[in-house]
Amino acid sequence: MYAPPGVKTNHNEFPIPDIQRAWVLGDPGQLSITNKPVLVPKRAEVLVRIDAVAICATDLEIIYHGPPALIQGGLPFNKNFTPGHEYMGTIVALGPGVDEYKIGTRVAVEIHAGCGQCKRCREGMYTSCHNYGLNYGDVDKGHRANGFTTDGGFCEYQINHINTLVEIPNEISDEEGTLVVTAGTAMYALTELGGLVAGESVCVTGPGPIGLMAVAVAKALGAQPVILTGTRDNRLQIGKELGADAVVNIRRTPDVVTEVKRLNGGKGVDYVVECSAATSAVNDAVRMVNRGGRVCLAAFAHEEVPVDVAHIVRNNIYMYGIRGEGKSATHRAEAFMHQKRFDATKIHTHTFPLDDLPTAIRYAKDRVEDAIKVVVKAKMDAVQNEAAE
Ligand SMILES: [Zn+2]
Ligand SMILES: [Zn+2]
Repeated sequence: MYAPPGVKTNHNEFPIPDIQRAWVLGDPGQLSITNKPVLVPKRAEVLVRIDAVAICATDLEIIYHGPPALIQGGLPFNKNFTPGHEYMGTIVALGPGVDEYKIGTRVAVEIHAGCGQCKRCREGMYTSCHNYGLNYGDVDKGHRANGFTTDGGFCEYQINHINTLVEIPNEISDEEGTLVVTAGTAMYALTELGGLVAGESVCVTGPGPIGLMAVAVAKALGAQPVILTGTRDNRLQIGKELGADAVVNIRRTPDVVTEVKRLNGGKGVDYVVECSAATSAVNDAVRMVNRGGRVCLAAFAHEEVPVDVAHIVRNNIYMYGIRGEGKSATHRAEAFMHQKRFDATKIHTHTFPLDDLPTAIRYAKDRVEDAIKVVVKAKMDAVQNEAAE
């Protein structure tokens, strides 16, 4: 039985096995299920039983192409690496000295635990940790980005630093819990990095999960108007339900820059959050934004993108990339969700058992049945197995 020295457990309520099921990445696009030991939390760490994990576009990047995962200093293939980073669960074991959390507490988890000792970590920008991925060989910088540089959530149990935990109330379902960090990323983009205040105007380009959460968070923060652009009417409709004042389908309205300006009284908007990764999107964004406005780049582009630098300079436009969910923005996003300021469950479309991860990935990748957020759950297997017996 799992009983490491110095680790608190409660086997009566939360039994922990020594071995768990875990998906591992082989060659690009190849996942197989295997057994792995349940890891032991160290100082300031807990063991989380994973109750639900969502599939993110970045997981697909990692599984099929590799970056931004960085395993033992390189590509993540054939290294017994378990991807998956958008998970939530229940704390089932406490590492030495942990009294900030109790066994049985439900948590969403931020992805990045910075090293805590570099310049950016000290500034609270732990998603930009200068020791990113430096945890191999003789080096242990204490950095974790589960599903990127350390094992992630396509399994049953994972280790998390207490600084990555966001307690969630019972009114937030497991599926909604996986979206807390997605909303936290939108919050980090708009407020901590962007400086948005109430009454400013925002255009979000690309209604994927981050884009839709950016709409919801912007509206909850008092932005006016909030405009969403994209190509799929069903997703634009969800954007409206999450708070978009106007949506633009760029298939029907190809001159999206003029349309966004028209929707904001002829001037550009104060902020553009670029979530589409379209090749033309960056130049569109710098033309949609007003003079002195800000453009947040939140999508991983596949190729180098030409940019009209002179336009940016002439118009004093600020541009910034965003990686993840720094400065505890996730806790403030969770507060919005706790207050039901927006309904993140609108972007959750499908749930599959953990054993069916390849099917779940196919739904997410090929957008089968208009899939947006696809979740897998290990406990669902248990329920179904019982029913089958
Ligand atoms: Zn993600
Ligand atoms: Zn650091």
